[in-house]
Amino acid sequence: ALQGRGPDTAPVPMTTSERLGVNKIRLESQLREALAARGLELSLQPLLDVDRGRIAGYEALVRWHHPERGPISPVEFVALAEETSLIVPVGEYVMDAACESVARLVEAGHGHPFVAVNVSARQLSHPGLVERIVARADAASLPRGSIKLEITESQVLDYDLVGQVISLCHNHGIKVALDDFGTGYSHLAHLHRLEFDVLKVDQAFSRHMLGDPRAMAVVEAVVQLGRALQAEIVVEGVETSAQLQALRRLGCHYAQGYLIGRPRTLTDILAESPPGPFGG
Ligand code: C2E
Ligand code: MG
Ligand code: MG
Ligand code: MG
Repeated sequence: ALQGRGPDTAPVPMTTSERLGVNKIRLESQLREALAARGLELSLQPLLDVDRGRIAGYEALVRWHHPERGPISPVEFVALAEETSLIVPVGEYVMDAACESVARLVEAGHGHPFVAVNVSARQLSHPGLVERIVARADAASLPRGSIKLEITESQVLDYDLVGQVISLCHNHGIKVALDDFGTGYSHLAHLHRLEFDVLKVDQAFSRHMLGDPRAMAVVEAVVQLGRALQAEIVVEGVETSAQLQALRRLGCHYAQGYLIGRPRTLTDILAESPPGPFGG
């Protein structure tokens, strides 16, 4: 990407294939192999029920263990998977593994946590998405209410499609979250049309909340907006107990971030005893 540029020119961000020094086709075939050979794994990051002080659920975050290059972040390979439509089988892997993980947590006495799964726009237009999720939940004997879908705000482009997916989900008791709320295009004008059950406030807001009263005012307003729309509010990127205290005061429902817990494998979570009250 730097070819033909002088030394003073700011570097252009590398694409995944450039960073890994392979072409896209090769990377795509490696991702395909990883899918077949269990080279993908889930990390589970806990969400705290702020009022009850208990872990209420987990977000499933996909990881790729590349044989030569080590772990590759979803920020990089999900975009590639979206470009190539591999996101559909990747998404199916994630949904399977997420359902299985919750079932294992329930079995091991971790209560009845929900699992939130990220879905890309491309998966939404793939026919049968919701039906497959329902079939998987049933196969794992999970109540449908224990599954939440997360749709990133910047991927909400086709309102009719997203609206249809949401109402199909609601017919089956599955909740839908608007992820990274506040960072995509402004959807405020359309928010009333899309009956999201959860608004996930991006970590950009929690990061500046305590240092900047205006950022705090925005978070406060979003919490109120969520209440008015009867949506649950999750704030992402909670890293300090001061932030958590502020969110509790504002009436935020769920907190997610390194303070509550980093993303971990199911094996690591199961190796510990079921969580007691947070901080206790
Ligand atoms: P996201 O859904 O907004 O997930 C939250 C990201 O923030 C995760 O990064 C998580 O590790 C990180 N994070 C959580 N708490 C903190 C914190 O306190 N501080 C900081 N600095 N970061 C925190 P991750 O796992 O790298 O995932 C990045 C994005 O990749 C996700 O953003 C999601 O959009 C996408 N993604 C992950 N898994 C999947 C998947 O299975 N399917 C699809 N379509 N996208 C996925
Ligand atoms: Mg998410
Ligand atoms: Mg997010
Ligand atoms: Mg995010």
